[in-house]
Amino acid sequence: MHTTCLMNGLFASGFDEKSCLSRLQSRRYRKSGTQRKPSAYLLSKLRIYEALHRHCGPYTESYNRTVQLIGSGDLSTFSSTNCKYLVWHPVHGIGNRIVSLASTFLYALLTDRVLLVDLGEDMTGLFCEPFRGSSWVMPREFPLKSLFRRNAFRFAHSVGSALKNGTLKVTEDSPEAPPFLFLNLYKGIYADADYCFYCDESQSFLSRVPWLIMLSDQYFMPSFFLIPSFKQEASKLFPEKEAVFFHLVHYLVHPSNRVWELITRFYDANLASANERIGLQVRLFKAQFRTSTVFTDQILACLLNQNLLPKIDNRSQELSSSAPRNQTTKAVLITSLYPQFYQNLSTMYSNKPTASGEVIRFYQPSHEEKQKFGDSEHNMKALVEIYLLSLCDKLVISSKSTFGYVAQGLGDTRAWILRRPGHGTNDPCVRDLSTDPCFHYPPYRTCNAAGNNNSSYVDVAEHVSYLKHCEDQNRGVKLV
Ligand code: GDP
Repeated sequence: MHTTCLMNGLFASGFDEKSCLSRLQSRRYRKSGTQRKPSAYLLSKLRIYEALHRHCGPYTESYNRTVQLIGSGDLSTFSSTNCKYLVWHPVHGIGNRIVSLASTFLYALLTDRVLLVDLGEDMTGLFCEPFRGSSWVMPREFPLKSLFRRNAFRFAHSVGSALKNGTLKVTEDSPEAPPFLFLNLYKGIYADADYCFYCDESQSFLSRVPWLIMLSDQYFMPSFFLIPSFKQEASKLFPEKEAVFFHLVHYLVHPSNRVWELITRFYDANLASANERIGLQVRLFKAQFRTSTVFTDQILACLLNQNLLPKIDNRSQELSSSAPRNQTTKAVLITSLYPQFYQNLSTMYSNKPTASGEVIRFYQPSHEEKQKFGDSEHNMKALVEIYLLSLCDKLVISSKSTFGYVAQGLGDTRAWILRRPGHGTNDPCVRDLSTDPCFHYPPYRTCNAAGNNNSSYVDVAEHVSYLKHCEDQNRGVKLV
């Protein structure tokens, strides 16, 4: 099939298919009938973006000229028609990285910036190049690269600190735009001042800065449906709000051939022949529930209450073997850093009939024991598992975990969210409101004329029909 026919025109024609098999083949592995359609406006915007990326991408004349501004700081010859860039730097795990990367790409689309990614050592070889005819990889010799991790430097050059200290003037005719600024939008260091990113006035200032460097672990996508200067355009691109992440992640994030081989090998060997596939993502932010059976009981209660698994038939061997047999099989894919949940559940069901007669099989691709940083093999396993979860027919994910959010969004499968471990078996999980990820830390203050935040609290979900508070994070919001 021709590439343009795939994903309803999401991809431009002319890709070398062999260089990225997942881009075309992943559709075959997904259940039918869930295909959301991108708007014609989004498709035309993507084609325009691709042309811009080819014109401004790494090592083009425009790129070389704009890089020089970082050293010289002389913006006198820089005009609004020159190429502007948005550099994405990874923060935290793969789930966090994918939700922030997709959000950053929408910001690039809305501001006519070129997205470059700092893949570092631990993400090299994970993904395909998304833009035909050019690379999205930030060149190794990018001048600020060694400073990305220096907190003091990042803060000194962040838009938040600069506004707070009054060193930047947020006025239309101010000549004081610097060649670069950091956008620190991540949990832990999310200083109040950095919230000014969500103010229109800051955006008008930022539009004059050639280089913006995004550091975020957040799904800040919903903010573009709130910031007045982006709201209309974002809505035009995505008339169906719940599908924003779905379209952007399917456009942008494709496992490399090596990762794709691991995904398909596991899927074909273990999941393909089952009548139904249940994905179960068990993420513990505190390891104390790892060895107790409390969380296993809660997980089982969720699976049984929601009819995702049948009960075990505890009657005598004779009675149960005379019951009518239902020959269907269910494959349960468990992903977790730990082996205990797989061991507990598979032991319960092994060699015992189920009340429905269905055969239940459990699989867990890996148990890494702990989250590792700077390890590309570890990240590869995480990506493989997120994808495998996304190929399941039904999904149970863990509260507040972006790992689960990405699986849910990619698969377009509205998941059940496990409540925090220890929540009990009466109300063990809740159905999510939509497949779009949760934005954990939305802006909660109004902006004043200077582009700073006022002190009064505002609930951003209150007056926006397509934003709701997340089931697993009270203050968070999600597109529905
Ligand atoms: P979050 O922290 O749950 O929001 O998800 P992230 O993906 O951002 O970070 C968790 C990281 O821990 C992952 O990227 C993996 O490195 C590791 N991890 C957590 N759970 C699993 C799992 O079930 N399987 C694998 N392979 N890695 C996991």
